[in-house]
Amino acid sequence: MNKRVYLFKLKLNTPYGLRVGGPKDDIYVLKPLEIEGYYVIPSSSWKGVFRRVTEVLFAGKDHYEGHKNGGVGNVDNLGELIKAKGLESYEEEKRRFIAMWNCPIERLYGSEYFASAVTFSDTLIDANINERTHTVIDRKTRKSKEKHLFREQIVDVKSVSVKVIVRDGLEEWFKTLEFMSVVGTFIGGGKSRGIGYAQLDLKESEYAEMDSLTRKPVFRPLSEVKL
Ligand SMILES: [Zn+2]
Repeated sequence: MNKRVYLFKLKLNTPYGLRVGGPKDDIYVLKPLEIEGYYVIPSSSWKGVFRRVTEVLFAGKDHYEGHKNGGVGNVDNLGELIKAKGLESYEEEKRRFIAMWNCPIERLYGSEYFASAVTFSDTLIDANINERTHTVIDRKTRKSKEKHLFREQIVDVKSVSVKVIVRDGLEEWFKTLEFMSVVGTFIGGGKSRGIGYAQLDLKESEYAEMDSLTRKPVFRPLSEVKL
C-alpha cells in the first residue's frame, strides 16, 4: 500500500493571546500551563482543537452517538484489519468498526479500533503574561462580590506554530484548514472573553508531500493549495 504522507508547518494568528490551562493550585488565579520557562500548547490540546473543527464540518448524529448503530460497507477492504483486531466473529463490533472507519473524524483522529492518522507537535511559547482582574457579579443583587476577585493570566502571544503529519483523510483535513483560515477557532480557555481566538494564516503556513522517506520534503505555502 502506497500511502501519501503530508507534513504541515501551520501558523495561527492569535490577536488576543491565549491560555491553555495549567495547574489549579490557586483557585483565584487562572494560570497557563508552563514547562521549564515556556508556556505550552501540548499536542493533545492541538488534537482537540482540530478535531472540534472537523466535527463542526463533518460529524453527524451517528458520530455523536458513538456509532452505536454500526455501519455497512466494503468489508473486503477491511477484512485484514478486522481479522487483526480479532473482530471477525463479533457482528456488532464489526459493524461499529466499519462505521468508525467510514467516519471522517474517527479516521483522522483515531478511534478505539485504530490509530490517529494525524500527529501534532507540542508548541513552546516564549512570551510575557497579561494579567486581568475579574470580579464575580452576584446573580441576585447584581453587585460585585468584593471577596470573589479572580485573576486571569493570558499568554501575550500574537501567533503560534504547530507541526503536523497527516497520513489519511486529506480531503477532510484540507477542509478543516480552510475553515480555520476563514472562520477561525479557539485554543484553550477564556473563549467567552475572546481569549484564544486563532485564525490559520495560509500565506505563512507551509506543506510538503513526502513521496519517499529518504527524500527531503520541499515545503510550499499553503496558500498555493486549491482548498
Ligand atoms: Zn465518528
